[in-house]
Amino acid sequence: MTATFINGTKIADEIRAEAALEVKELLKKGIHPGLAVILVGQDAASSAYVNMKARTCEQLGITSRKVTLPSSIQTDELIAQVRRLNEDDAIDGILIQLPLPQQVTKHAVLESVDPKKDVDGFHSSNLGALLLGHEALVACTPLGVMELLRRSGVTLEGAHAVVLGRSDDVGKPQAVLLMHANATVTICHSRTRNLAGVTREADVVVAAIGRTAMVTRDFVKPGAVVIDVGTNKVSDRSTVERLFGDDAERLKDFEKRGYIWVGDVDELAVKEVASMLTPVPGGVGPMTIATLMKNTIKAARMRRGI
Ligand code: NAP
Repeated sequence: MTATFINGTKIADEIRAEAALEVKELLKKGIHPGLAVILVGQDAASSAYVNMKARTCEQLGITSRKVTLPSSIQTDELIAQVRRLNEDDAIDGILIQLPLPQQVTKHAVLESVDPKKDVDGFHSSNLGALLLGHEALVACTPLGVMELLRRSGVTLEGAHAVVLGRSDDVGKPQAVLLMHANATVTICHSRTRNLAGVTREADVVVAAIGRTAMVTRDFVKPGAVVIDVGTNKVSDRSTVERLFGDDAERLKDFEKRGYIWVGDVDELAVKEVASMLTPVPGGVGPMTIATLMKNTIKAARMRRGI
């Protein structure tokens, strides 16, 4: 069997087009959705993500505001900035670009975001509401994965879904979303015994562990759907060659930038056994930003009760 690749870029384009129409409707009502992104420090990757988010906002007609703060900032100063945005009526969504510097207490900062503006879905109120099946702002990546599965026609009802990873921002909300979609869910983590044996039982595998190409052919039941959330930077040529053989495009990319992004799934091996697979890049990644836009629109509506 050779897996069909799920085209996250195309599905994300569809979602962005839908979001643009929704924004148009809101603008007609005099509502201008606004997203604030807080960037702490000068990290190049974080800065690139923030710029990408701002560009997408612009394309859709969402007002974006970038708040850049020094890497020396203390927790209470950052919380004060968040509170100002909580009070700002022009802002519907607040996103704090992670990671934060070590001296900052991440948990305290995330909890200071008004849950109604928490477009990342990281606040305990939103995570609790998600667990209870109440209306909530849900973390963008797991929500994006659900949309990929839905739009690819994957049946979740009664399926066995295995989530690899139990982080607060991906693994846990992913498992809850899959459970709400009536899948039977198993959550795996670094202490799981016989990991490959467990995942081999799955109809759907969502890998979110941050381990380059760890999910090999042995982890996957023939015909399973495999979603690769992992984004791992690979900067040595021998790993690229081992994972992708003579794939000219990957090698060209590597030569150009000195690194490539690789998922948690060994793509070449797993595509021989899975029925569907998300590529990296071009799978889950583009969905995260598209879902952020949808969450910002949702927050704008929820805040106004429409
Ligand atoms: P994280 O907070 O580091 O959590 C990783 C999880 O994987 C933990 O639960 C950990 O288990 C588990 N794990 C680590 N090594 C393992 C192993 N050898 N076997 C089994 N489980 C293992 O990471 P995250 O934030 O969830 O992100 C996961 C990956 O997704 C990363 O590559 C990240 O870059 C990527 N990501 C991508 C997007 C996107 O938009 N595409 C968005 C978010 C994250 P323990 O709990 O036992 O430590």
